[in-house]
Amino acid sequence: MFQFKNIEHYNTQLTSNEVDCVTVVKHYLKQINDTKQLNAFIEVFSEESLQRAKQLDIKRKKGEAIGCLHGVIVAIKDVICYEDHKVTAASNILKEFKSLYSSTAVKKLLDADAIIIGSCNCDEFAMGSTTENSSYGKVLNALDETKVPGGSSGGSSVAVQAGLCMVSLGSDTGGSVRQPADFCGIIGFKPGYGRISRHGLIAYASSFDQIGVFGNAIEDVARVFETISGGDEYDSTVSFSKVEKYDGLKNQNKKPSIAYFKNALEHHSLDPEIRDQIYSLIHKLKSDGYTVEPLNFKLLDYVVPTYYVITTAEASSNLARYDGIRFGTINKSSEPDLVNFYTNNRSTGFGKEVKRRIMLGTFVLSAGYYDAYFTKAQQVRQILTEETKAIFKNFDVIILPTVPSTAFEFDDISKDPVAMYLADIYTVFANLAGIPAISIPLFKHSNGLPFGLQIMSNRYNELTLLQLSDQLIKNYKQ
Ligand code: GLN
Repeated sequence: MFQFKNIEHYNTQLTSNEVDCVTVVKHYLKQINDTKQLNAFIEVFSEESLQRAKQLDIKRKKGEAIGCLHGVIVAIKDVICYEDHKVTAASNILKEFKSLYSSTAVKKLLDADAIIIGSCNCDEFAMGSTTENSSYGKVLNALDETKVPGGSSGGSSVAVQAGLCMVSLGSDTGGSVRQPADFCGIIGFKPGYGRISRHGLIAYASSFDQIGVFGNAIEDVARVFETISGGDEYDSTVSFSKVEKYDGLKNQNKKPSIAYFKNALEHHSLDPEIRDQIYSLIHKLKSDGYTVEPLNFKLLDYVVPTYYVITTAEASSNLARYDGIRFGTINKSSEPDLVNFYTNNRSTGFGKEVKRRIMLGTFVLSAGYYDAYFTKAQQVRQILTEETKAIFKNFDVIILPTVPSTAFEFDDISKDPVAMYLADIYTVFANLAGIPAISIPLFKHSNGLPFGLQIMSNRYNELTLLQLSDQLIKNYKQ
């Protein structure tokens, strides 16, 4: 049976003819088939993956140059466009809608010889923390099927967790890669804003959205990141500045200086065991010669409200385009009145959480409330960004918990939207400030579930974050 260790090892297996891409694709298709109850995929591209595997095997055996993701099995969240494949954002309103073009990230994956095996289930339009808001049904956490996998990229996370692909792509607007990675016991990495093109990523909140990567090894996540990042003429917010090559072997002894937010670790919402385990890690790091210092992050209680004011405002505008005419016709009724026609389509097409956010966003942008909410939130975001810059003058990274608790039960927190929003307290900060952030699976709770440590670095300094993550996983993982 094929055993996946990491991409580099797989590459050696391929080039020494120990395995071929066709065998590997068959292995993954079987795994996907055997774990259908997890509901991680919306669509599996079985035939097509096998065909592509065949072509790649021929190419390699001919001795042609191969890409850095040659034969790597990748799953993509169903908000990432892939030409001629359905993309629905797990929403009824886009049912049967097919992408007219591929996102830049997908193009780069394919150019590097990756095999895209399927599209993953998620919360509708990436709004949620449990993947329960999907019109395709909930996704189960493979470690404990009574628990949520997290969200919104729950399917992409479970696909890696359960060995249904090698790496996967999700999107992270306020934690949707890091939080499910935390709940599933894997790595979830959100690069800084502007590192990966958003061209072909269905928008939720454009000034926050970033494509992120799930994997089991830092070197794999780094490799995918390097491959899909970089300047793009189709996204004016993406940076052309160079992504430094990650080399897991270099700088192993360099110990980045670490700050942690004391008030975040003392926060009433944080599970005491998560707090204690992070404190004991801090102790170990200090005694191993790392500089780890506490800071007081005064804006902590403002991050969730600020995030939800700005993201819902952006969402209400981004989602205005879905009217049942231009993208995925969901209601072919011959309603003669245009307003009723839109109303019917949007009422039946969107789920409850998406409607809630469109209404919230419309409210905070409305004439009477714009200054009180939207302008205020933008000001808070600006202050927060300035404070973050100041912290990185003195420290290389900031560490935080990823989530205040381990994986939730189904139908628990999602029943109370405000409780669900508040659980984003540790992840939304990185998106508000636009900085890179990762969740690495270091800990195990006495309830048997995993949880992660979140690390953040300054903009354009993903390298330090990835190197420290590797050190911590190698030396401190339980
Ligand atoms: N849980 C957050 C939300 O519901 C994060 C979503 C995301 O990152 N896409 O908005």
